[in-house]
Amino acid sequence: MKAFGTDYDGVIINIEAQKAKAFGKLINKTWGVNQKEARDFWIEKGGTSRKYKFDYFYEKAFKKQLSDDEYKRIEIEFSRILKNEFYPRVKLLDGALELLKFCRENFDHTFVSSGVTMEEIKYLVELNGLSNYFDLTLGTDFKFISKNEHFNEIKRIWRPDEVYFLADGLEDMKIAKSFKFYSIGITTNHSKKDLENAGASEVVDNLSQATLSIKKLVANS
Ligand SMILES: [Mg+2]
Repeated sequence: MKAFGTDYDGVIINIEAQKAKAFGKLINKTWGVNQKEARDFWIEKGGTSRKYKFDYFYEKAFKKQLSDDEYKRIEIEFSRILKNEFYPRVKLLDGALELLKFCRENFDHTFVSSGVTMEEIKYLVELNGLSNYFDLTLGTDFKFISKNEHFNEIKRIWRPDEVYFLADGLEDMKIAKSFKFYSIGITTNHSKKDLENAGASEVVDNLSQATLSIKKLVANS
């Protein structure tokens, strides 16, 4: 049984930089955090959950843990900004449809594993017209705190012999490696070297290269 999984932002679409900026602006306005530091942190920590990023700056600013209620309030605001200002204009990256078509036809199961909140990633996949390409779309919430929980779930429900995972974040590569998944890093937001150091099985520069390399892997498996 073979499964193919992909991260979403940074692979299928790329608005990480815009989200980083919006995040910086919002927590600067709300918590007085330095905007540039917040922006850089967002990019650096690609592949982690949204909650993790808010938690980090709240603790840093106030020396205490972010409460669930406070998180909910700021997360709703952030989600609203993304849905109103960014998501309606999002375009798929070149080669995304070809990649997803191939994977849909050649894998037993396909999934999305994203650090975006559960409700929002489902909304986004639907908005982009891609729901039919995936058996499972996973974002983060109180049960699925990170991609660790996603990958455990994948193993539990499908018991795959092989999992290929495509993503742009360093954290993605680290977690995929710890699960012994075959990880393909894409250089949307990080260099080849950084992705390799984080544990990527291989690195590609764009989605047509990714499709080619997945075709080879499937042919040889
Ligand atoms: Mg990403």
